[in-house]
Amino acid sequence: MNIKRGLLIGRIQPLHNGHMSVIQDTLNEVDELIIGIGSADQSHTNSNPFTSGERVLMLSKALREYKVDPSRYYIIPLEDIACNSLWVGHVKMLTPPFEKVYSGNSLVKQLFRENKIEVVQPPLFNREEYSGTEVRKRILNNENWEDLVPQSVIEVINEIDGVERMQNLNKKEVSELIK
Ligand code: ATP
Ligand code: MG
Repeated sequence: MNIKRGLLIGRIQPLHNGHMSVIQDTLNEVDELIIGIGSADQSHTNSNPFTSGERVLMLSKALREYKVDPSRYYIIPLEDIACNSLWVGHVKMLTPPFEKVYSGNSLVKQLFRENKIEVVQPPLFNREEYSGTEVRKRILNNENWEDLVPQSVIEVINEIDGVERMQNLNKKEVSELIK
């Protein structure tokens, strides 16, 4: 049997309802979906607050909450590398074989297409609200972010005191300490 496998990459900082919608839509097109967690080595910054392990937790709990069959997906952390031209090989080394990439990111599209790998751009769902940037902005401003993410993501962020972490990281004195 020829298994049709697709690759979807996102930084998942954090997982939101837009990610869940594209994951579910893509699972209707492929037998198995590889979910690559981009910039896996980054954490504890304003734009990448959560570790790779925390993002794995968000994905596994939310996929279970949505009753997705665990035999249909792989969650693979993908660390950044310095050379964009070598990045596709790096991703292929870390992932099960795949035939199609699902991404809206222009650099990701460019790099895979140069390597003769088909890329499709899935439609964005309610992008004004369902974006990692919007969720992070609302967390920092104590606005309603909970409506934008699955229930299990709220639970993971609570478990790791994620709101407090993000608000502390955003304070001037903490970012200055690191410099
Ligand atoms: P950030 O604002 O932090 O960049 P993001 O919302 O763009 O976060 P990423 O983690 O960067 O999400 O993942 C990007 C991928 O997630 C996109 O290529 C796209 O496939 C998918 N995605 C993100 N938001 C949506 C959405 N609202 N609807 C459908 N797919 C989405
Ligand atoms: Mg993005």
